[in-house]
Amino acid sequence: MTQNKDNYSLQTLAIRAGQHRTVESEHSEPIFTTSSFVFRNAAQAAARFADEEPGNIYSRFTNPTVRTFEERLAALEGAERCIATSSGMSAILSTCLGLLKQGDHIVSSRSIFGTTVGLFNNILGKFGIETSFVALTDLAAWEAAIRAETKLMFLETPSNPLTEVADIQALAELAHANDCLLVVDNCFCTPVLQKPLELGADLVIHSATKYLDGQGRCVGGAVLGKESLIGESVFGILRTGGTTMSPFNAWVFLKGLETLSIRMKAHCENAQKLADWLQQQSFVQHVYYPGLSDHPQHQLASRQQTGYGGVVSFEVVGGKEAAWKLIDNTCIFSITANLGDTKSTITHPGTTTHWRLTKAEREQAGITDGLIRISVGLEDVEDLKKDLSPS
Ligand SMILES: *Cc1c(COP(=O)(O)O)cnc(C)c1O
Repeated sequence: MTQNKDNYSLQTLAIRAGQHRTVESEHSEPIFTTSSFVFRNAAQAAARFADEEPGNIYSRFTNPTVRTFEERLAALEGAERCIATSSGMSAILSTCLGLLKQGDHIVSSRSIFGTTVGLFNNILGKFGIETSFVALTDLAAWEAAIRAETKLMFLETPSNPLTEVADIQALAELAHANDCLLVVDNCFCTPVLQKPLELGADLVIHSATKYLDGQGRCVGGAVLGKESLIGESVFGILRTGGTTMSPFNAWVFLKGLETLSIRMKAHCENAQKLADWLQQQSFVQHVYYPGLSDHPQHQLASRQQTGYGGVVSFEVVGGKEAAWKLIDNTCIFSITANLGDTKSTITHPGTTTHWRLTKAEREQAGITDGLIRISVGLEDVEDLKKDLSPS
């Protein structure tokens, strides 16, 4: 399906976009498990290497199964180009290596995936790229942190674990007024719930490991944006640096995309029911979910997203002891920091994802001792309620 792409809805594109049938007339997309490709003759080899003729050369940078995944995800995000990578982290690394140089500066939300903070501080920092961290929802703080050398602004929305929502449009305007690029890690919403490029963002990052697969099987990632922005710069890093997605993983992800829309709707529905229920429980002090009317950015989330996502956090009465007891009492929830799976997961951020912070830093970030984060899966929601109830 290559024509009239723009006229099809997301659900159709998720199933049909990017497939190019081979001479074997297969119905389902094949996995091309081949490292290299052969040329008809020496002249064709030369033309392929010189980029005069499109076509496959070597699976570090061109593979038909990976390309199918890339074209399909690009269609969903409304992007000109998608570059699939070996993981979400390698998507961020490839983006930074492709677009930044020594002396450049990043302004990033403080509430991002912990490993991304490590990448910015410990790895990019080593090569003379500095990062300033700001509060996600404080537009004035973003503006104040921008310098002449600032090239990228980076964020995730909703944030993890407190589900704060950033105004993508306002931040994109700020970025462009200062000759910066806005990068949105769209892992939590996926294109089903939020389209950052339509709101003015320049680049979208994905950890395909989460909802795109949705069943916890493979690690992968993607970078999406304009061809002129990433087609040489970021693709060049992949081609030379080898941050490549395997064809098998690409196949798993593209099959995941086919059910993404119905899965995301079901995740949102279960999460909303659970958040509403948690809010009424006496053992719960506070619930963080953008779908609740008392959430500080509920209105913004309603405008910017078509659903509120599958991640819910809540604070229990009784601090760490009560939180650990609730976690240990569950039978269905998997105790893991992973998210975006059909299986519901539960974690205590204060002693896992955020344990490195000092108590003061944790308190400032709102990560209290009683805070629990759940990624709501697709099990029956009544069973999940029972599982979270005090015994
Ligand atoms: C998991 C995650 C990443 C990193 O992705 P990997 O596939 O684990 O490398 C980046 N951003 C967010 C928001 C994530 O949840």
